[in-house]
Amino acid sequence: MALRTLDSLGPLAGKRVIVRADLNVPLKDAVITDDGRVRATLPTLTTLIAQGARVIVCSHLGRPDGAPDPKYSLAPVAQRLSELLGKPVAFAGDTVGESARQTVAALADGDVAVIENLRFNPGETSKDAGERAAFAGELAALGDVLVSDGFGVVHRKQASVYELAELLPSAAGLLIAAELDILDRLTESPERPYTVVLGGSKVSDKLGVIQHLLPRVDRLLVGGGMMFTFLKAEGHEVGKSLLEEDQLDTVLGYIAQAKERGVELILPVDAVVAASFAADAEHVVADADALEDTPFGASGLGLDIGPRTATLFADAIRDSKTVFWNGPMGVFEMPSFANGTRVVAQALTEVDGLSVVGGGDSAAAVRQLGFQDDQFGHISTGGGASLEFLEGKKLPGLEVLGWQ
Ligand code: ADP
Ligand code: MG
Repeated sequence: MALRTLDSLGPLAGKRVIVRADLNVPLKDAVITDDGRVRATLPTLTTLIAQGARVIVCSHLGRPDGAPDPKYSLAPVAQRLSELLGKPVAFAGDTVGESARQTVAALADGDVAVIENLRFNPGETSKDAGERAAFAGELAALGDVLVSDGFGVVHRKQASVYELAELLPSAAGLLIAAELDILDRLTESPERPYTVVLGGSKVSDKLGVIQHLLPRVDRLLVGGGMMFTFLKAEGHEVGKSLLEEDQLDTVLGYIAQAKERGVELILPVDAVVAASFAADAEHVVADADALEDTPFGASGLGLDIGPRTATLFADAIRDSKTVFWNGPMGVFEMPSFANGTRVVAQALTEVDGLSVVGGGDSAAAVRQLGFQDDQFGHISTGGGASLEFLEGKKLPGLEVLGWQ
């Protein structure tokens, strides 16, 4: 069965349409540092507004502990959405309580409201299906239909993503449809060489994807926080760098598998090692097999790939026809450790073929470093979701919308 699309919901004028969006934007002191995910919801929202729907937007933001926490309020996001839409956006101070009910009841046709962070409610991410269903029931009472458009969360079995889609007539929004169009091109006969570049800090989450990617790709480049587990597995000391000690054997297995399958696994040959995790920390470039051979010894932290690695990666990327990249190469938020990410991003813009950047921080990184969205084939709003899709996994938030 194919993904149910917006038109499957019939005329939406006057209907209360819940949009499960992914408005999980990076914030610094309540200021949005990258509004890419808000912009990505606009096609669906403007379509619904034009149809005269009463639009109720919901999302998670960050990882609050199942209770209200002003630090993770969606209020600044509602404000930004209002600016981007060029019209007022109502904001409910709770998710399914009195404020949400009143806000929704006050909507006229074509109006938009945002309700407060879904994860202020423990039911949203509960491991207990009954608790999720109960919370989904409360959400369902707010609307007539659900448009699921939060691509970044479709790999999660969460109340608003999964159970809610079972309770209300539901369909995918335009963002999910567009994301799948591109990712399909990566899974079904990608043009070769096909290169995947991995980095970032969610090491334990992402190591597992390698197993599934190895049979599909020609080249795998590993940078970011993940590289140190590989270097350590190869017998090199990594000081205080990010490390998944219990994954060393697994990683050795990947290295062996890559060899067997003829996949070119390219690991860093150098890194930028810092005295501490700080923007102004003293830092030097060290060879990958001598990371503790710096003035900081065993207390050094690898915070970026080194310049030789960046060149190596850039050459492999430019020479590919299909490239998928998830995870910054270093701590790009600090200028001293942004070079690797910048060089890799630049190489992606020069690919003669399809280049895709996936992941919240990766997308934020390329924009922060001054690249424009249209320099890439596609910037996906989902990191974990796009990786799991590329692995060939069944994603609950898509299956519930008819995708197989
Ligand atoms: P994405 O959101 O694109 O999927 P992740 O969330 O996995 O990516 O990782 C992003 C984070 O990884 C960034 O905040 C960046 O600072 C961090 N990072 C990259 N390299 C390192 C490193 N060597 N050590 C610590 N953190 C790193
Ligand atoms: Mg991230």
